[in-house]
Amino acid sequence: MRKRYAMAVDTVRCVGCSGCVIACKTENALPSGGFRDWIAEETRGAFPTLSMQIRSERCNQCSRPSCVSACPTGASHVAEGGVVGVTRAKCTGCKACIAACPYGARYVHPDGFVDKCTFCLHRVSAGKAPACVETCPTRALTFGDLADPGSAVAALTRSRRFTVLQPGSGNAPNVFFLS
Ligand code: SF4
Ligand code: SF4
Ligand code: SF4
Repeated sequence: MRKRYAMAVDTVRCVGCSGCVIACKTENALPSGGFRDWIAEETRGAFPTLSMQIRSERCNQCSRPSCVSACPTGASHVAEGGVVGVTRAKCTGCKACIAACPYGARYVHPDGFVDKCTFCLHRVSAGKAPACVETCPTRALTFGDLADPGSAVAALTRSRRFTVLQPGSGNAPNVFFLS
Protein backbone atom coordinates (compact mmCIF):
# COMPACT_ATOMS: atom_id res chain seq x y z
CA MET A 1 0.00 0.00 0.00
CA ARG A 2 1.24 3.52 -0.74
CA LYS A 3 2.45 5.38 2.31
CA ARG A 4 0.73 8.56 3.46
CA TYR A 5 2.88 10.28 6.06
CA ALA A 6 0.97 12.41 8.54
CA MET A 7 1.36 14.04 11.94
CA ALA A 8 -0.93 14.37 14.93
CA VAL A 9 -0.40 17.38 17.21
CA ASP A 10 -1.97 16.91 20.64
CA THR A 11 -3.08 20.40 21.67
CA VAL A 12 -3.82 19.13 25.18
CA ARG A 13 -0.21 18.06 25.67
CA CYS A 14 1.56 20.95 23.89
CA VAL A 15 2.83 23.54 26.36
CA GLY A 16 4.34 25.90 23.78
CA CYS A 17 7.92 25.40 24.98
CA SER A 18 9.30 25.77 21.41
CA GLY A 19 11.46 22.68 21.81
CA CYS A 20 10.18 21.49 18.42
CA VAL A 21 11.11 24.79 16.80
CA ILE A 22 14.66 24.72 18.15
CA ALA A 23 15.09 21.02 17.28
CA CYS A 24 14.06 21.73 13.70
CA LYS A 25 16.39 24.70 13.37
CA THR A 26 19.31 22.63 14.62
CA GLU A 27 18.55 19.44 12.70
CA ASN A 28 17.98 21.21 9.42
CA ALA A 29 20.57 23.99 9.84
CA LEU A 30 17.96 26.66 9.18
CA PRO A 31 19.19 30.22 8.59
CA SER A 32 18.58 33.13 10.94
CA GLY A 33 14.93 34.15 10.63
CA GLY A 34 13.96 30.93 8.78
CA PHE A 35 11.51 28.51 10.40
CA ARG A 36 9.91 25.24 9.28
CA ASP A 37 7.68 25.07 12.35
CA TRP A 38 6.31 27.56 14.83
CA ILE A 39 3.98 27.90 17.84
CA ALA A 40 0.49 29.30 17.37
CA GLU A 41 -1.65 30.54 20.26
CA GLU A 42 -5.39 30.96 19.77
CA THR A 43 -7.76 32.45 22.33
CA ARG A 44 -11.33 31.14 22.19
CA GLY A 45 -14.60 32.13 23.80
CA ALA A 46 -15.58 35.38 25.51
CA PHE A 47 -14.69 36.78 28.91
CA PRO A 48 -14.95 35.30 31.51
CA THR A 49 -15.06 31.87 29.83
CA LEU A 50 -11.89 32.17 27.79
CA SER A 51 -9.68 29.29 26.76
CA MET A 52 -6.40 29.20 24.91
CA GLN A 53 -5.12 26.60 22.49
CA ILE A 54 -1.37 26.31 21.98
CA ARG A 55 -0.19 24.26 19.04
CA SER A 56 2.93 23.43 17.09
CA GLU A 57 2.35 24.15 13.39
CA ARG A 58 4.25 23.29 10.18
CA CYS A 59 3.54 22.45 6.56
CA ASN A 60 0.44 20.26 6.38
CA GLN A 61 1.91 18.04 3.63
CA CYS A 62 -1.40 18.52 1.81
CA SER A 63 -2.90 15.76 -0.33
CA ARG A 64 -3.91 18.46 -2.84
CA PRO A 65 -0.97 20.87 -2.45
CA SER A 66 -1.71 24.23 -4.08
CA CYS A 67 2.00 25.10 -3.76
CA VAL A 68 2.93 22.27 -6.14
CA SER A 69 0.28 23.31 -8.69
CA ALA A 70 1.53 26.92 -8.54
CA CYS A 71 5.24 26.15 -8.98
CA PRO A 72 6.25 27.02 -12.56
CA THR A 73 9.51 25.06 -12.60
CA GLY A 74 8.55 21.75 -11.00
CA ALA A 75 10.79 22.47 -8.01
CA SER A 76 7.88 21.90 -5.64
CA HIS A 77 6.89 18.26 -5.92
CA VAL A 78 5.29 15.36 -4.08
CA ALA A 79 7.89 12.97 -2.68
CA GLU A 80 7.85 9.71 -0.70
CA GLY A 81 4.83 9.25 1.52
CA GLY A 82 3.03 12.24 -0.02
CA VAL A 83 5.52 14.66 1.55
CA VAL A 84 5.83 17.91 -0.40
CA GLY A 85 9.42 18.80 -1.20
CA VAL A 86 11.39 21.53 -2.94
CA THR A 87 14.25 20.68 -5.31
CA ARG A 88 16.64 23.51 -4.53
CA ALA A 89 18.41 23.44 -7.89
CA LYS A 90 15.10 23.92 -9.72
CA CYS A 91 13.79 26.71 -7.45
CA THR A 92 14.12 30.25 -8.82
CA GLY A 93 12.77 31.91 -5.67
CA CYS A 94 9.79 33.36 -7.58
CA LYS A 95 7.54 32.93 -4.48
CA ALA A 96 4.52 31.65 -6.45
CA CYS A 97 4.31 28.74 -4.00
CA ILE A 98 4.41 31.09 -1.02
CA ALA A 99 1.45 33.01 -2.46
CA ALA A 100 -0.41 29.75 -3.14
CA CYS A 101 0.05 28.18 0.32
CA PRO A 102 -2.88 29.07 2.64
CA TYR A 103 -0.82 28.14 5.70
CA GLY A 104 2.25 30.38 5.52
CA ALA A 105 4.39 27.27 5.66
CA ARG A 106 7.21 28.43 3.35
CA TYR A 107 9.96 31.02 3.52
CA VAL A 108 12.74 32.24 1.24
CA HIS A 109 16.15 30.92 2.26
CA PRO A 110 18.95 33.51 2.06
CA ASP A 111 20.54 31.34 -0.66
CA GLY A 112 17.60 32.10 -2.96
CA PHE A 113 15.43 28.99 -2.82
CA VAL A 114 12.18 28.42 -0.96
CA ASP A 115 12.31 26.13 2.05
CA LYS A 116 9.72 24.32 4.17
CA CYS A 117 9.14 21.32 6.44
CA THR A 118 10.16 18.00 4.87
CA PHE A 119 8.73 15.81 7.67
CA CYS A 120 12.48 15.15 8.16
CA LEU A 121 12.41 12.53 5.38
CA HIS A 122 16.19 12.16 5.73
CA ARG A 123 15.63 10.91 9.28
CA VAL A 124 12.48 8.91 8.48
CA SER A 125 14.25 6.98 5.71
CA ALA A 126 16.96 6.14 8.25
CA GLY A 127 14.31 4.71 10.59
CA LYS A 128 14.26 7.71 12.93
CA ALA A 129 11.45 10.04 13.96
CA PRO A 130 11.39 13.66 12.76
CA ALA A 131 13.56 15.88 14.97
CA CYS A 132 10.61 17.83 16.38
CA VAL A 133 8.78 14.61 17.29
CA GLU A 134 11.83 13.13 18.98
CA THR A 135 12.51 16.29 20.98
CA CYS A 136 9.05 17.16 22.28
CA PRO A 137 9.21 16.73 26.07
CA THR A 138 5.44 16.21 26.43
CA ARG A 139 5.11 13.77 23.50
CA ALA A 140 2.60 16.05 21.86
CA LEU A 141 3.72 15.11 18.34
CA THR A 142 3.06 11.76 16.65
CA PHE A 143 4.37 11.02 13.16
CA GLY A 144 3.58 8.00 11.03
CA ASP A 145 1.93 6.38 8.05
CA LEU A 146 -1.78 7.13 7.92
CA ALA A 147 -2.26 4.38 5.32
CA ASP A 148 -1.15 1.80 7.90
CA PRO A 149 -4.13 1.16 10.21
CA GLY A 150 -1.72 -0.17 12.84
CA SER A 151 0.29 3.07 13.06
CA ALA A 152 0.04 5.31 16.11
CA VAL A 153 -1.03 8.29 14.00
CA ALA A 154 -3.85 6.31 12.37
CA ALA A 155 -4.99 5.08 15.80
CA LEU A 156 -5.09 8.63 17.15
CA THR A 157 -7.31 9.78 14.28
CA ARG A 158 -9.72 6.99 15.19
CA SER A 159 -9.70 7.45 18.95
CA ARG A 160 -9.48 11.24 19.35
CA ARG A 161 -11.40 14.23 18.09
CA PHE A 162 -9.32 16.37 15.77
CA THR A 163 -9.42 19.36 13.44
CA VAL A 164 -7.30 20.47 10.52
CA LEU A 165 -6.33 24.06 9.79
CA GLN A 166 -8.58 25.83 7.28
CA PRO A 167 -10.58 22.73 6.31
CA GLY A 168 -12.20 24.73 3.52
CA SER A 169 -8.90 25.42 1.77
CA GLY A 170 -9.36 22.46 -0.55
CA ASN A 171 -5.78 21.35 0.16
CA ALA A 172 -6.65 18.29 2.26
CA PRO A 173 -4.09 18.76 5.05
CA ASN A 174 -2.37 15.79 6.73
CA VAL A 175 -1.50 17.43 10.06
CA PHE A 176 -4.24 16.71 12.61
CA PHE A 177 -4.76 18.76 15.76
CA LEU A 178 -6.10 16.56 18.56
CA SER A 179 -8.36 18.14 21.16
FE1 SF4 B 1 4.54 21.88 22.12
FE2 SF4 B 1 6.15 19.75 22.21
FE3 SF4 B 1 6.69 21.80 20.59
FE4 SF4 B 1 7.00 22.07 23.22
S1 SF4 B 1 8.15 20.67 21.86
S2 SF4 B 1 6.02 23.51 21.83
S3 SF4 B 1 5.29 20.85 23.95
S4 SF4 B 1 4.93 20.43 20.44
FE1 SF4 C 1 2.11 23.24 0.20
FE2 SF4 C 1 1.39 24.93 2.12
FE3 SF4 C 1 0.13 22.55 1.88
FE4 SF4 C 1 2.64 22.66 2.76
S1 SF4 C 1 0.83 23.53 3.79
S2 SF4 C 1 1.84 21.24 1.17
S3 SF4 C 1 3.51 24.38 1.61
S4 SF4 C 1 0.09 24.22 0.37
FE1 SF4 D 1 11.21 20.56 11.09
FE2 SF4 D 1 11.43 17.95 10.56
FE3 SF4 D 1 9.60 18.78 12.33
FE4 SF4 D 1 9.28 19.35 9.73
S1 SF4 D 1 9.25 17.30 10.68
S2 SF4 D 1 8.99 20.78 11.45
S3 SF4 D 1 11.41 19.61 9.05
S4 SF4 D 1 11.84 18.93 12.53
